[in-house]
Amino acid sequence: MQKDFFHFKKKFGQNFLKDESIPRKIVEHASILEDSLVIEVGPGSGALTKILVQNAKQVLCYEIDTELEDVLAQQFIGYDNISIIYDDFLKRDVKEDLTRYSYSHLYLIANLPYYITTPIITKVIEDAIPVEKMVVMVQKEVAYRFSAKPGSKDYSSITVFLNYYYDIKNEFEVSRNCFIPKPNVDSMVVSFTRKKELLSVHNLPLFFQLVRDSFRYKRKMLRNNLKNYDLEKVSQVLERYHLDLKVRAEELSLEVFVAISNSLFS
Ligand code: SAM
Repeated sequence: MQKDFFHFKKKFGQNFLKDESIPRKIVEHASILEDSLVIEVGPGSGALTKILVQNAKQVLCYEIDTELEDVLAQQFIGYDNISIIYDDFLKRDVKEDLTRYSYSHLYLIANLPYYITTPIITKVIEDAIPVEKMVVMVQKEVAYRFSAKPGSKDYSSITVFLNYYYDIKNEFEVSRNCFIPKPNVDSMVVSFTRKKELLSVHNLPLFFQLVRDSFRYKRKMLRNNLKNYDLEKVSQVLERYHLDLKVRAEELSLEVFVAISNSLFS
């Protein structure tokens, strides 16, 4: 990339990978199967895209910055397995875009723009885009929140939400020195593998509302955060797990949240 002619845009979270070693490692961790379509959010100048086109049947990129159009067009002359949509990923009907392709496996592999990491991952879930595996680079602190275990300080409502759908694993750290311009934070590559079977929840919207309410004031006991719920029922479920209403949300596993939710809502 001709850095002299391109002005990196902070507002788009533009920190580009400097060389091929990290993109190669990311793609290795994805273990892309035959007949796969890979979605990449934010190809930038194509550091990761270059490796993706060599490993996937089809690559579908979304890039918000139209100034990158020429750089990317040059880079992928002669490749017929890449499409780039110049638009805001968050606003796209991705399922509609996908109808143009045939494939057996769907991945999302990206060095995500950090200002919208959670909205991008949440969109995949809420729009029911059938991604079976995501391998994404995110800010290290955010990765700890995604993959946190009950009882740790990073465990929060987003952890429970994401872990309901995906098995989440921190794969490897990436130093801030691997990017241009150099960000103020270090990064982590995280993999999300779609769970084959989801726990049975009677009412999904109310389940996620219950989880959010449970974490409203993190240091408070469940009794206080769930004042407006049927505490008698909550207490009965907690007893089955040898817990009581003095417990804090950060100590409850996904299974306990599901059990509480299913006893409250039908
Ligand atoms: N993949 C490149 C790399 O690893 O070198 C660039 C990664 S950079 C962290 C994030 C990229 O996402 C930028 O190219 C930025 O313009 C793009 N981007 C930011 N917001 C976006 C959005 N809402 N939709 C699509 N692309 C976006």
